[in-house]
Amino acid sequence: MPTDPATAKPGNGRFAPSPSGDLHLGNLRTGLLAWLFARSTGRGFLMRVEDLDRVRAGAAERQLEDLATLGLDWDPPVVWQSRRLPLYEAAIARLTAAGLTYECFCTRREIQQAVTAPHGPLGAYPGTCRTLTEHEKQQRRAEGRPAALRLRADVTEFTVTDRLLGEYRGAVDDLVLRRGDGTPAYNLAVVVDDADQGIDQVVRGDDLLPSTPRQAYLATLLGLPVPEYAHVPLVLNTAGQRLAKRDGAVTLRNRMALGESPGYVLSVLAESLGYTGATTPSALLEKFRPEDLPREPWTLDANGLLQPS
Ligand code: GLU
Repeated sequence: MPTDPATAKPGNGRFAPSPSGDLHLGNLRTGLLAWLFARSTGRGFLMRVEDLDRVRAGAAERQLEDLATLGLDWDPPVVWQSRRLPLYEAAIARLTAAGLTYECFCTRREIQQAVTAPHGPLGAYPGTCRTLTEHEKQQRRAEGRPAALRLRADVTEFTVTDRLLGEYRGAVDDLVLRRGDGTPAYNLAVVVDDADQGIDQVVRGDDLLPSTPRQAYLATLLGLPVPEYAHVPLVLNTAGQRLAKRDGAVTLRNRMALGESPGYVLSVLAESLGYTGATTPSALLEKFRPEDLPREPWTLDANGLLQPS
């Protein structure tokens, strides 16, 4: 039975950090925004550990602890991508059965050389292995080249709608579904997980915007709903680069070691969003209006700006 949009219960929002180290203030701000978007629309809020790649031991636990210290809550269970491999393989199997995948033997270097050629969308895979014959594939396997699995995309662009940015049209190429080392690729896992977890609202940093048309297209191919997106501006350092650990005391733990309370750090993040006087996420929730959010990156001087004056 089709759901009536007027009575349909909203689904879930989520935060999906990669456990490569402690979250910095930019990551925490994005997590806070994801929480605000979800909670202000009556959605559930789920936490997903994207640990297929770039994992540092213990980092996921520390990230969750920091988010909780800041006052964020989420609906259990926390989902770990590394424990859901069969789900990704099932999606790959469906695409393969539909003739929508092919093995790719290109090395990173070969792709780099091909994509810097002066044609085709920037960074798009040029389809080198798309039409290999069985004999050519066997030759490459015999050379011991590990094969990645790619999507056979039949579009080169796809349009998504972003709550903050409006329509965004971007490149779709034959993206990797499973890497040469057997790991499911981020773009596949994120699509499968968002659908499986009932996520209909994706709030994340705008550095991921260029991947979004690929993900929405992949969801469509798999017959999965495309979520609503809101890509939020990043936090930059004083040199205008994306905030990073080397920029000083940029994690919650760093700030607390300087004597700042989690409530104070929350109030600084809230101020960067245009709200004064909130020291908890719930206080901020009462004031939150997505349409008022700054559309520009927030520049942070980690060595000066945060100290209470
Ligand atoms: N794990 C990704 C990151 O930390 C985020 C993925 C997403 O929100 O879709 O950059």
